Amino acid sequence: MSDADEMLEYTPEVARRTADLQERVKDFIPSVEWPLVAPLIDAVNELKKAKNAVILAHNYQTPDIYHCVADFVGDSLQLAVEAGKTDADIIVQAGVHFMAETSKLLSPDKTVLIPSLEAGCSLAASITGEDVRRMKQKYPGVPVVTYVNTSADVKAESDICCTSANAVNIVEAMGVDRVILLPDEYLSKNVAALTDVEIIAWGGRCEVHERFTGEEIRAYRKETPGLVVLAHPECSPDVLANADYAGSTSSMIRYVKEKRPAQVMMVTECSMSDNVAAETPDVEFIRPCNLCPHMKSITLQNILESLQDLRYEVTIPDEVVVGARRAVQRMVDLGAEGRDFDNGVPVAVTVEYRDTLGPVVGVSG
Ligand code: SF4
Repeated sequence: MSDADEMLEYTPEVARRTADLQERVKDFIPSVEWPLVAPLIDAVNELKKAKNAVILAHNYQTPDIYHCVADFVGDSLQLAVEAGKTDADIIVQAGVHFMAETSKLLSPDKTVLIPSLEAGCSLAASITGEDVRRMKQKYPGVPVVTYVNTSADVKAESDICCTSANAVNIVEAMGVDRVILLPDEYLSKNVAALTDVEIIAWGGRCEVHERFTGEEIRAYRKETPGLVVLAHPECSPDVLANADYAGSTSSMIRYVKEKRPAQVMMVTECSMSDNVAAETPDVEFIRPCNLCPHMKSITLQNILESLQDLRYEVTIPDEVVVGARRAVQRMVDLGAEGRDFDNGVPVAVTVEYRDTLGPVVGVSG
């Protein structure tokens, strides 16, 4: 029997220590299940104190992780920036691999752990550093702006990073009339609709957001008159055209907390609605439930094992670190404001794919 197994009993002491947490998630974890979940939560919280660790949980994590063991919650960049400010020795990333890499870039002296090797991302997997080198070869001198949802290898080939919140302002801050914006095709098209800068895109997609359609949104509206629809800019332009508001995960959360619509639908990963609903009980959430399998590979159990065995440590090759950190840091230093995606005017965008680019010739890594 391992140390963890010995700890996993629902004792009166565990019940007392987790009572406040149970109250927070009572609408999502039935009371009959709490005796199974609470010992895990308690074990994680005790172990992270003992090991001077912090847990960073993305907005798409399930409520047990988001509300009960996380030290910081937010979007990927918020998490990485917060991580850089803590005195913790260990960061456990309850998110996906590119997020853990970004935390490592901004916290090079800390041990960064990702609890599951399944925590990838379809968007990050759509492009490699070599693809970016080929883009630069095809479009010499055109600045490369890269969404943070990419590997460190891709960031290292980029001039600057952006998030879905600041993408329009970062593109415009380049001060040129043409920019390569990688790798999300829909984000790039949605940015292009808001700026006079010509955008050259890559054909990557988020497997969660690409599943939503404008037709689906119209059907929900028909069923629920008065429904307020908030969409993430990784959705297609057709979805955004049918939304009342579009912005990053943080912007959507802010919208609900400030405006308190009677009925709202967040067109993004399913768990985010649960996490916001726990803090806004007066708002009714209509949930078009698309789950991210990569985010869902993170569980309380593997977070506990990650802390116990210090696995899986995230490292970045030396030859990649400098360029990748420069691209992320440049974005942070620029301090570009977030911008909503309302009122965009669709424009034609060039979209490149691996097979539309020639071989790499004479471009240094
Ligand atoms: S929700 Fe989409 S962008 Fe986010 S980790 Fe999952 S696949 Fe990647």
